[in-house]
Amino acid sequence: MQRNHIYLDYQATTPVDPRVMEVMLPYFTEKFGNPASKSHVYGWAAREAVEAARSQVAALIGATPREIIFTSGATEAINLALKGVAGMYASKGRHIITVATEHRAVLDTCKALEQSGFKVTYLGVPENGLLDLDELRRAITGETILVSVMHANNEIGVIQPMAGIGALCREKGVFLHVDGAQSVGKIPVDVQAMRIDLLALSAHKLYGPMGIGALYVRRRNPQVRLKAQIHGGGHERGLRSGSLPTPLIVGLGAACQILIDELHAEGQRIQILRDRLWSGIRSRLDQVQLNGDPHHRLPGNVNVSFGGVDGNTLLASLANIAVSSGSACTSESTEPSHVLRALGLDDALARASIRFGIGRFTTEAEIDAVVNTVVENVERLRATAPH
Ligand SMILES: *Cc1c(COP(=O)(O)O)cnc(C)c1O
Repeated sequence: MQRNHIYLDYQATTPVDPRVMEVMLPYFTEKFGNPASKSHVYGWAAREAVEAARSQVAALIGATPREIIFTSGATEAINLALKGVAGMYASKGRHIITVATEHRAVLDTCKALEQSGFKVTYLGVPENGLLDLDELRRAITGETILVSVMHANNEIGVIQPMAGIGALCREKGVFLHVDGAQSVGKIPVDVQAMRIDLLALSAHKLYGPMGIGALYVRRRNPQVRLKAQIHGGGHERGLRSGSLPTPLIVGLGAACQILIDELHAEGQRIQILRDRLWSGIRSRLDQVQLNGDPHHRLPGNVNVSFGGVDGNTLLASLANIAVSSGSACTSESTEPSHVLRALGLDDALARASIRFGIGRFTTEAEIDAVVNTVVENVERLRATAPH
């Protein structure tokens, strides 16, 4: 984009890695076949590419290829998981448990399920944003069929204790769905070790293209059955009909393959940048607070509240830096973030919060420039603010 702009919004989306783009390109043109075409070489080649990508996605999360269902993104995968379980297991119980800090894709789907007669418990979180396992244990009843907890939070980056949550759900015999849109590709995710039954992921959060994602659906110990939400030609084991977008799927696979090889080293590099950003801000400004647990958080997330400044004015002053604020996360609305509110922040402080998202193409020089710009602007706004 513009040369004088710095992109620090990697939790909103990531650019397609040029290596991924290169792998995708032939599937738009010469390798354009429909993977469902069984009678000729165009279809066979596309199908082979789709199945190779399915294996790459599965390998990144410790699943088997047959457990991967391609969708248009994490939002659709989440809808399929929640509505699919609700539709299939309603006779067993009509209670679902989730968390107040979830992404809108989960919260709004739960609201829709409430409209059709399900009861949903929204667990709160303490100031550090981490779910309390004892509280989850107490919330599970004989009616509970599903627990839905995000692995890493998109706003404050906190990482939930997933292995503990998985063990608890398995012990209680309820399915666990995990919104993994922010964790897959950023930190290790293993559906076996974490006893995850359903996991949603999104390509555009891990340097793949927009418009493609996947749902992991456990096939054994225990098998999860879902009610399909989109009907048509019976693609994807009947769970998600519609012609598969081969180029996008190939891109998702390639993006996952890069992460199988590089996730660890990339995480270390990004974490150093994250710590540099936060210590730069903290050492030069008072009245700043890091939102979310300081230790259990994504390598690439810093969410900071700046006391004594107006959030909108601050964001406007950072015109050349692409970040998100503690409001307007749901595009048009200017409501303060429901996540920051759940941590106990008041409206003004929530609005005066900024999410810095660091990623694959962020440089140390960019971090230093951002620290300088933020510090200068906060000092200037505080000096001119009416007291
Ligand atoms: C981005 C995101 C989603 C939605 O993913 P899409 O692929 O854009 O539909 C859901 N949950 C979380 C935590 C996200 O960050």
